[in-house]
Amino acid sequence: MLYGYAGWTLRIDLSRRQVEKEPLKPEWVDEFVGGRGFTSKILYDENPQGVEPFDPENRFVIAMGPLSGLFLPASGKTHFATKSPATGGYGDSNMGGHFGVNMKYAGYDIAILSGKAETPSYIFIDDDTVEIRPADQYWGKGSTEVEEALKKELGEDFQVLTIGPAGENRVNFACISHDFGRQAGRIGIGAVLGSKNIKAMAVRGTKSIPVFDPKGLLKKGKETYAACREKPGFEGWTPEGTAGITNWCNDVGALPTRNFQTSHCDYADQINGKAILKELKITDKGCFACPIPCGKYGRAKTKLGEVYVEGPEYETLSLIGSNCELSDVHAVAYANYICDELGLDTCSAGAVVAFALECCEKGLITTEDMGMDVKWGDLESVAHILKLISSRQGIGDILALGVKGAAEKIGGDSDKFAIHVKGLEWTGYESRNAPGMMLGYMTADVGAHHSRCWVLGSDVANAVGGNKDANVHDLISGGADFDRIPKADHRNVVPLVLKSQHLRPAFDILGTCRLQYMEIGLETEYYEELYYCATGKKLDFNTDLLTLSEKIWHLNRMYNKREIPDFGRKYDYPPPRFYEETIPNGPNKGHVMDFEVIEQMLDDYYAARGWDENGIPTRSTLEKHGLKL
Ligand code: SF4
Repeated sequence: MLYGYAGWTLRIDLSRRQVEKEPLKPEWVDEFVGGRGFTSKILYDENPQGVEPFDPENRFVIAMGPLSGLFLPASGKTHFATKSPATGGYGDSNMGGHFGVNMKYAGYDIAILSGKAETPSYIFIDDDTVEIRPADQYWGKGSTEVEEALKKELGEDFQVLTIGPAGENRVNFACISHDFGRQAGRIGIGAVLGSKNIKAMAVRGTKSIPVFDPKGLLKKGKETYAACREKPGFEGWTPEGTAGITNWCNDVGALPTRNFQTSHCDYADQINGKAILKELKITDKGCFACPIPCGKYGRAKTKLGEVYVEGPEYETLSLIGSNCELSDVHAVAYANYICDELGLDTCSAGAVVAFALECCEKGLITTEDMGMDVKWGDLESVAHILKLISSRQGIGDILALGVKGAAEKIGGDSDKFAIHVKGLEWTGYESRNAPGMMLGYMTADVGAHHSRCWVLGSDVANAVGGNKDANVHDLISGGADFDRIPKADHRNVVPLVLKSQHLRPAFDILGTCRLQYMEIGLETEYYEELYYCATGKKLDFNTDLLTLSEKIWHLNRMYNKREIPDFGRKYDYPPPRFYEETIPNGPNKGHVMDFEVIEQMLDDYYAARGWDENGIPTRSTLEKHGLKL
């Protein structure tokens, strides 16, 4: 008996319309535990070498973790992975809500989709009944509209994920949407589902999950909820959620502004968490079993219309807000709504719109190309560009490739301000004076994504002479004066980056949200005890789990090496803007990252990881982690 697991892997061959169920492999559980561990293993082992992201044979993997679906704080995360159209390498994305929980209650820890449905379809899962059903009537429609319609058709107790028109049109940063505002946003995961002609999945699960010690789990679960409520971060973090960090990022010169031309704006107060509470919020909204609901569901009113939308959270505020110079929280929320309906990742969408606006500013894209005179800070312009991208009309067809692909087509010097790593757009932390943060972005397996590493607080503390381990809340409450931040020291950032790169994705293995640990300080011991009650196995968080997290890091690096012909060091470089242009204003004015520092950090990082000078894991490193590749 595999306690803590539903026990089955679901395989759906869309081309042959075949559904198979096989027992969950105990060796996968023993070696990779769950979630991100499963997806990395399966993609390496089962995805055909060299398969194109939109080839029907590209696998689309959904995996839950051993803690998913148990009544534990925030155990509602679902992990998705596929070969990314944005990077051509390993890609994954994570989503809250209630979808994965129901997959597990239906009996499945893993679902692997292969092939391509002949016509637009959706996947229907009701415990043991799994069907590929027609979805012609939903094709072309918005994400929320389809979710609502499917719930009406099937019943409110079905949990639905959808793609929008952007996914159908294979936009490289199309997302998956669920629960009227939750997304698996990154790496073009929605475009791969669209390439398989899958518009949606609907699942209802009613079975139970066997656990090793039910009474102990209930007791520990209750204790964990109580502990969350008692944490000092609980009161401070929950009301605004991630949006609460906006002003701090602006104060420390890390808020992407005007396509990362700078890192500070003078209107952060108008697009921060408090502005959301005052102007938009109707209610808090959270994922399954979450004690600190960070979603803020609200109403935005603009000249383009009035909409209901969840968010925006920090990444959207920074990348669609200040990065496109939208200085009104209603406008940012409205653009957020458009992205959600069209099925676009707000991080990449904001980065691509800002890139397009700068191309227009520099004459690389004309008004004629664009179809209107677009301007920074103008909601109409942002909405226009988003719709061009989603429908792939005109210049939108090029922008749909993401900033890397678009820069290759547009030419000029646009590659210098295409802000990405490996083809994935950089998220909401400008890092020219944050060497640890920059190194984390540079070396992440999926491209420039903060979900893999966040050490900005340490970078700032290091620069201003504070404790290098200080967390962001200490710095905020410390009220330090950030009028001028000295140049940060890049030495000694590697251990912090490695620690963060192993820690943050560890929660994606267990199937829980990381924010209870990261933001309010829930101790790792709770996870160890919950894991024991669920599975009957001991798991030391700081040794066993982080070692597995490290092993996955090597495995995904090898996947990228296998799939990208010239993969190596050059794929880890940041965009030229960060080492060629100084920051023009704000507390980091005058700072730029030296290219020699970038090289030095990579040398140190590769050495610490056991990779060669081109960034490839050595044979002995792979052997040390039991990877026979
Ligand atoms: Fe979901 Fe936010 Fe709760 Fe995490 S903290 S489980 S993202 S509502």
